[in-house]
Amino acid sequence: MRQSILFTKTIKESPKDEKSVNARLLVRAGFVDKLMAGVYSFLPLGFLVLKKIENIIREEMNSIGGQEILMPTLQPRANWMTTGRWEKMDDLFKVKDASRKDFALGATHEEVIVPLVKKFVSSYNDLPLYVYQIQNKFRMELRAKSGLLRGKEFMMKDLYSFHLTEKDLDGYYEKVKAAYIKIFKRVGIWKKTHLTFASGGSFSKYSQEFQTISDGGEDIIFVCKNCNQAINREIFDEVKICPNCRRKDFNEEKAIEVGNIFKLMNKYSKPFDLFVLDEKGRKKEVVMGTYGIGLGRIMGTVVEVCHDEKGIIWPEEIAPFHFHLIQAGQGSKTEKIARRIYDDLQKSGFAVLYDDRKGKSLGEKLVDADLIGVPVRVLLSDRTLNANSAEVKLRSKKETELIRLPALNKFLVSRKLYV
Ligand code: ATP
Ligand code: MG
Repeated sequence: MRQSILFTKTIKESPKDEKSVNARLLVRAGFVDKLMAGVYSFLPLGFLVLKKIENIIREEMNSIGGQEILMPTLQPRANWMTTGRWEKMDDLFKVKDASRKDFALGATHEEVIVPLVKKFVSSYNDLPLYVYQIQNKFRMELRAKSGLLRGKEFMMKDLYSFHLTEKDLDGYYEKVKAAYIKIFKRVGIWKKTHLTFASGGSFSKYSQEFQTISDGGEDIIFVCKNCNQAINREIFDEVKICPNCRRKDFNEEKAIEVGNIFKLMNKYSKPFDLFVLDEKGRKKEVVMGTYGIGLGRIMGTVVEVCHDEKGIIWPEEIAPFHFHLIQAGQGSKTEKIARRIYDDLQKSGFAVLYDDRKGKSLGEKLVDADLIGVPVRVLLSDRTLNANSAEVKLRSKKETELIRLPALNKFLVSRKLYV
């Protein structure tokens, strides 16, 4: 993409109404725009990152047998009455139509998926079944001060699994756990992420959270100094001892819950009377699991974890572009060479942000490049061209390297660059 046609611009000053690191950097660099507290537009750069995260999640969900669907946001009150959550769920958005009829805006989708599955599933042969979607959720979050970490409208991947037996659910729960670890590795935050025991006593065996250690986090977790097992605050207050190694020595850390996995058992199959007939024709209640990941929250978390004083440092797999090609000076020779590098890299299958803007100094372009955070910067200036070279720099490192033009494309596309 040519930067001269990108309609968004970087912003020098931190927006006054943003406190969190992720929102300040993402707004300044032109990835997102705040419409109101907890509600953001994804601009071209941000949309590219969001789609990369989405595709990683989709690949990993498909690899564990997930079937993708898309369910509606607008939902009938009756379904939420059936589960009791019309009254009980504090953060449920409720809207009325012109005839004063009530609807919920989906905060989660058990109320839609269970009756949907009931229409198609009636025999034990139909199980197990794994269905997921990637879709916007609405929640009346009161403390929407953390940028993309806590939206009132936010993108979530929600997977629901349906099983004949608890044992089968247990097996699938472990598969989802492994898929989640792959996702957090690929988006670049696994090293700081702990699989954490969640919510209360014996219930903890039914639910785990993925918590990424970060000062921007709203949660507190306790990480065992001996075995690295993490526990969230609720359960810690109850047990005060590592459930894994029985030691009592913990580090207290701020963390962001980036995902969670939950055995629902019959919590929602019961109210909707979702059952199948087993091989002997007996009625058996279906047991379920639910597994969520917030896409915007991942994007915000990556920024919280991967940045420096100059801007964002995107992990390779979710970066908006592979290369940021910067053309300094307007000489026709420089431009010709820059365009050739741009075309060659794209032909080799790489995404390039090409800073071809006129009327911007080299200094301004470099400041923007650091803010935007593309992993590899390729600079063409009079100085480098005098040496028939381009200067290559990783966003994450200080050193620069001059590479001679005839060898540039080969050098850039070789994977060696990233290690
Ligand atoms: P929290 O305790 O942070 O409010 P939650 O327990 O309500 O999270 P779930 O309902 O389990 O979260 O949602 C699944 C995932 O969706 C979370 O792990 C998180 O990644 C994401 N998520 C939840 N609420 C938000 C939100 N308001 N904004 C962005 N992402 C969210
Ligand atoms: Mg919540």
